[in-house]
Amino acid sequence: MHQSAADEHRREGEPGRGPARWPLLAQPLPLVGYVFLVVTGYVGITVWAAAHTAWRWEDALTFVALGLCGAVCIEASRRLGMPAGVARDLLSAWWLPVALLLPPVYALLVPLPLQMLLQYRVRATMPHRRVFAAAALGLSGAAASLVFHQAVPHPLAGPGRWVTDDQRSILVAIGCAVLFIVLNTMLVAVAAHAATQEGRWRDVLWTRESLLLDVVELCVGVIVAITCVISPALLLLALPPVVLLQRSLMHQQLQAAARTDAKTGLLNAGAWQREADTELSRAQRSHEPLAVLLVDIDHFKRVNDTYGHLIGDQVLISVSSTLVHQLRDYDVIGRFGGEEFAVLLPGADTVEACRVAERLRARVRRLAVPAEESTVSVTISVGVALFRTHGQDLIELLASADLALYRAKESGRDRVCLPAVRKAG
Ligand code: GH3
Ligand code: MG
Ligand code: MG
Repeated sequence: MHQSAADEHRREGEPGRGPARWPLLAQPLPLVGYVFLVVTGYVGITVWAAAHTAWRWEDALTFVALGLCGAVCIEASRRLGMPAGVARDLLSAWWLPVALLLPPVYALLVPLPLQMLLQYRVRATMPHRRVFAAAALGLSGAAASLVFHQAVPHPLAGPGRWVTDDQRSILVAIGCAVLFIVLNTMLVAVAAHAATQEGRWRDVLWTRESLLLDVVELCVGVIVAITCVISPALLLLALPPVVLLQRSLMHQQLQAAARTDAKTGLLNAGAWQREADTELSRAQRSHEPLAVLLVDIDHFKRVNDTYGHLIGDQVLISVSSTLVHQLRDYDVIGRFGGEEFAVLLPGADTVEACRVAERLRARVRRLAVPAEESTVSVTISVGVALFRTHGQDLIELLASADLALYRAKESGRDRVCLPAVRKAG
């Protein structure tokens, strides 16, 4: 499921394809410690469980059948590619039944081959992320499995009596699926939090979109489990719709990725302009005010020259997330160029636009991005342009905001400016 929710860590660049590197050690210490803890816990529990499991052929065959379904899903959407960064898949549809129907050791084992397949066939990412994702999925699955087997001791024994005779067991299955998803999300969220070292749990836990996907995964996983109890051969009926669902999910994520700037997660220039055009038409119809801000980081080249591009990137990411958190949900922000951002404020008049711009400036000023033994601070200059006053369309507005930004730079940086000359009318 959250195979790359573990990727929610800030992008640390793609893995070295050449000589083996172990970039985990370059991560923040709390993250290294946490990953180590989870992975050793996972390995220890897996070895212990393997030694204490009564291995049975039927279980092994069901395991292989569900694993193969997962592999088919991966292969079937492989050619679509997988967007970098936060990507979701529907593989829980297969490992949830493994957790519910088979002894816990299988839940511990199933992420291994599938994560390997993802790593080598779909997208090579940092090895520690894959290992961590497998460990988190394995541990969450094993916990769900353990709980479910308390309620239904032999889920595959008999012709699935717990499905047909006792509807309460299905509720327990749903509860265990929720447990699986919640545990996995928590394990991954702690890693994401340790990686970014920022205090916004809401962002690394659940968004509306990820919650919806969790519900879909849960439903599909439980339906596949029930199908499998009736007859493993029926998995052949479940496979095509799940493959289709997986493919459309990938497609949708790729579309979203095409609108997004990979480094900051903001809209890219093209997407920003399209959204801004829509807002502008709306403002035109409703006779509402609207403002555009152009934000440029001051002396950013110096940051790169002094601390290197990687720290420069961290500063860019921190500035963009600071800007996002100071804006309202319906404001439109995009990365316009290297260290330049465009913000559209629907409904904002001159006073409001300048107030927002000042707030952005003040907040960015307070940022301290960790670098080597010190921290880096930057300032921004902001050019403000008002719809109707400084421009009648997006191009004019952007040109005016750019003039205003130039004024801000000329007059000393770290300030907010309006265009010097007001157009008549
Ligand atoms: P000013 O105050 O006049 O804006 O000075 P500046 O140094 O910020 O502006 P300039 O346009 O001279 O330099 C922008 C720098 O931003 C140059 C480029 O190397 C850097 N840059 C652009 N995109 C990225 C990026 O994605 N990552 C990093 N680290 N640096 C970037
Ligand atoms: Mg600059
Ligand atoms: Mg610039």
